[in-house]
Amino acid sequence: MAEPTRIVILGGGFGGAYLAQSLQKLGRRCDLEITIIDRNNFFVFYPLLVEAGTGSIEPRHCTVPIREFARSSELLMAEVKDVDLPGREVICRLIGDDADRRVAFDHLVVALGSVTRILPEHIVSGVREHAFEMKHMTDAVAIRDRAIELLELANATDDLEEKRRLLHFVIVGGNVTGIEVIGELENFVRDATVQYAHLRREDCSFTVVEGAPSILSILPTHLHDWSRHNLEERGIVIRENLTVKEVHEDHVITSEDERIACSTVIWTAGIAPNPVLGQFKGFPLNNFGGLECEADYGVKGLDGVWGLGDCASVPGLDGKPMPPLAQIAIRQAPQLASNIIASIEGRPTKPADVHVQGILVPLGRHKGVAKLKGIRVEGFFAWAMWRAIYLMKTPGWRRRLRLMMDWFINLFCKRDYVQLGMIPASHREFHGQHRTGRMTAGSESPVDSE
Ligand SMILES: Cc1cc2nc3c(=O)[nH]c(=O)nc-3n(C[C@H](O)[C@H](O)[C@H](O)COP(=O)(O)OP(=O)(O)OC[C@H]3O[C@@H](n4cnc5c(N)ncnc54)[C@H](O)[C@@H]3O)c2cc1C
Repeated sequence: MAEPTRIVILGGGFGGAYLAQSLQKLGRRCDLEITIIDRNNFFVFYPLLVEAGTGSIEPRHCTVPIREFARSSELLMAEVKDVDLPGREVICRLIGDDADRRVAFDHLVVALGSVTRILPEHIVSGVREHAFEMKHMTDAVAIRDRAIELLELANATDDLEEKRRLLHFVIVGGNVTGIEVIGELENFVRDATVQYAHLRREDCSFTVVEGAPSILSILPTHLHDWSRHNLEERGIVIRENLTVKEVHEDHVITSEDERIACSTVIWTAGIAPNPVLGQFKGFPLNNFGGLECEADYGVKGLDGVWGLGDCASVPGLDGKPMPPLAQIAIRQAPQLASNIIASIEGRPTKPADVHVQGILVPLGRHKGVAKLKGIRVEGFFAWAMWRAIYLMKTPGWRRRLRLMMDWFINLFCKRDYVQLGMIPASHREFHGQHRTGRMTAGSESPVDSE
């Protein structure tokens, strides 16, 4: 009897997990053995990550268990270290183990996602030491824990200037993630002040620093103007055409040498392909560190090796690389699955044909902006659309039910302003000095607040 074709998928995130599902559906007539290798046994449903961080939803409800999602695939919970191209093996290390393992493949799919883009120290210093990211579940919860800690400290001080510094949050990067974070954070922190005898809503301040001429430049002019106006009305300061060149414990320095006193900096100024790709010998990478792929997702010059999602530079029909979005990765997955099956069966592959369907940005306080298939909407309707669409896109009816319950309960009950124990250890050590800290990227856990 012929051996099954071994397909190994590196990364069980949006791209990898949806690919495994598509292969299961399409590959019924082939004998496939599918293995996903991911450091986590779940993937994060990113569009809901900010809400999970600020307590609008239970953090576990924005995670999807890979085993449940891709039932007929094998999952190895392991850190991918390298790929031995001549030997056609992946080198990885099981989480909790200290020996390397080799996993053989006939076809390899690289879907290892992206990381926050942090510029070299000579361009922007102090980001790694002092800024938070918004990429992992631990980041989202750490920011919430940090905000609560600062509220407690600010409540305990009589020094007005210090109080204001403690409660000044600076977001660097005013595109979709940064604006979503500031919108929710402003809501969360200002609403929390009612619980503190010595704090007023006006003691809290929020600044967005954006290098481009406008925040949300991905949206049409009318929508980014509307968003700016909405956020400014809520007292959020928007600084455009400005960058940050130094991040310190208690202030940032801008490109105009202005010193802005603050105690929390959240870095959302872009993403970069997963740097682990740089360790894979023989893989073609572009200037940004992304995998160079052909239009059919095949990695350039490598037979039976494919790229998918944020880490892969796959040209769309217009010849430009497709943007790093979940909606793109999800729709790339079935196309790649049929190309892999075609390649196994000796048929020709097809070029990728995926484009952005729409952009939805929640601004907090039941407002949002959306551009969807030519329709432009702002205000409550855009926010409601955002919730409805992501509710429908959330995998599994049980998870959808839990989300609906979280949102329904929030209509009548206040959030719990409690820490979940995710504040970085470095910060705890320097508690008295209000030192900031940052969660390091890596293995993360869906936090249980119960
Ligand atoms: C806060 C936030 C909000 C977002 N909101 C939206 C939105 O509203 N709409 C939208 O379309 N997109 C959104 N995105 C973008 C979207 O999340 C990504 O484009 C999408 O996740 C890309 O899928 P992927 O499979 O390439 O990567 P991922 O989903 O990140 O999956 C990569 C997987 O690889 C694993 N991995 C990485 N390195 C290793 C290693 N060395 N060993 C083992 N496993 C590893 C990770 O654990 C992860 O599971 C958002 C992103 C963020 C951060």
